[in-house]
Amino acid sequence: MSAPFPNHPQLQGNYAPLRMEADAPDLIVRGELPPELNGALYRIGPNPQYPPRDRNHHWFAGDGMVHGFLFREGRVDYLNRWVRTPKFETERAAGKAMFGTFGNPMTTDQSVVGQDSGLANTNIVFHAGRLMALEEAHPPFELETGTLASKGYWTFGDRMAGNRMTAHPKMDPETGEMLFFGYSTGGYFTDRMTFNVVGPDGAISRADEFKVPYSAMVHDFLVTRDHVVFPILPLTGSLERAMSGQPPFAWEPDQPGWLGVLRRDAPVDDIKWIEIPPCYVFHPMNAYDAGGKIVADVATYEAAPLFPLADGTPGDPEKATAHMARWEIDPAAGTVSETALDDRVAEFPRFDERRAGLDYRHGWFGGVERRNRGDRGNWTEIVHLDLETGRRAIWSDGEAHHVSEPVFVPRMEDAAEGDGWVLFTVFRAEENRSDLVVLDAMNVDQEPVAVCEVPHRIPHGFHGNWVAA
Ligand code: FE
Repeated sequence: MSAPFPNHPQLQGNYAPLRMEADAPDLIVRGELPPELNGALYRIGPNPQYPPRDRNHHWFAGDGMVHGFLFREGRVDYLNRWVRTPKFETERAAGKAMFGTFGNPMTTDQSVVGQDSGLANTNIVFHAGRLMALEEAHPPFELETGTLASKGYWTFGDRMAGNRMTAHPKMDPETGEMLFFGYSTGGYFTDRMTFNVVGPDGAISRADEFKVPYSAMVHDFLVTRDHVVFPILPLTGSLERAMSGQPPFAWEPDQPGWLGVLRRDAPVDDIKWIEIPPCYVFHPMNAYDAGGKIVADVATYEAAPLFPLADGTPGDPEKATAHMARWEIDPAAGTVSETALDDRVAEFPRFDERRAGLDYRHGWFGGVERRNRGDRGNWTEIVHLDLETGRRAIWSDGEAHHVSEPVFVPRMEDAAEGDGWVLFTVFRAEENRSDLVVLDAMNVDQEPVAVCEVPHRIPHGFHGNWVAA
């Protein structure tokens, strides 16, 4: 018997977990699914199997659940599955949560202290024939494509440096490589990071470790054709704080940020650290080289959201909203300039990833005009930005309907940049249900191409990717 979930804002409404796994073949579709839409959209998010042990539960701390949309010949089948991590299996056998939030040993059942507490809940990517559910403090967890059956941790034949992989690896469209980093790889809250490169054959071709200015939560990074940039921003991690009952991760605005710039053909000893004012970035859109400089488009926060200050008090919510901005990094001069790209509150930026690391024109993100008290941080708009003309187009189905990250799918392999669709889910609170929406990526402000009805709701999640058939 499972106990009721506690009264916690991140376990209510569409943050509440879906407590079942289902198959829904041939969803009802309004409009017409393009026959070229041939492949799978996999999305993932936190979906705690059991009520948490800790009073201070965090949205990021739920077990990973994957939602799969399998498209072929104008139809779409849906299924959802939990990722059967060692933690999931241990807790299923026990019939209750055994691990504390983020593996906190103080609140973990003594019988499992020290065991793997990976959640596999943040992103799901496909590279070199493997579908991998990712979370940033553990190795990838492999799933079977199509069925979403769990296969187990994949550590690249034990050749990866460190045992942690970011949830935001970068795929190089020119070389077929996958590049990724890990943070705190010297143990909890250490100032060590790794940099790994996986060849198109799935084998590790580079595995390095290096020291960073301080221990921080490093969620994502920048990769261009010639460079890689590691952002160390003052959402710091501290074992000392954790041991004294203070927040393990906290926003420390009196620390500067650092961008570690490295040529991809250079050793990690060559990383050049450039100081920037404190800010936080969960997600860049894209980055590219431009005449010796690096251009990076990022969703940047004046102060990190979702985490307290070092003394445990909440920060200023006005500052904890992100906007799209362009960084111009000059590695030779050691400077970074910033210009605003848009005035919407923005998150989950994506683009046509065939242009990853290259100059590009089109981006899409989840937007909202402004944050209101108690709006729980949802996004209600899909925004398209044409970075060449500055034209902005917005799709919204009203303030009550919350959207997920938009994923771009090209019309065909050699279609022009941006020629295709954006796919995302929208939560219909009044029906307690979600839809999968397909928009024409170049005309997001027009009627959807297709709306696919999911029979249940899809909880607010993180990231997803398209895997072509
Ligand atoms: Fe992310």
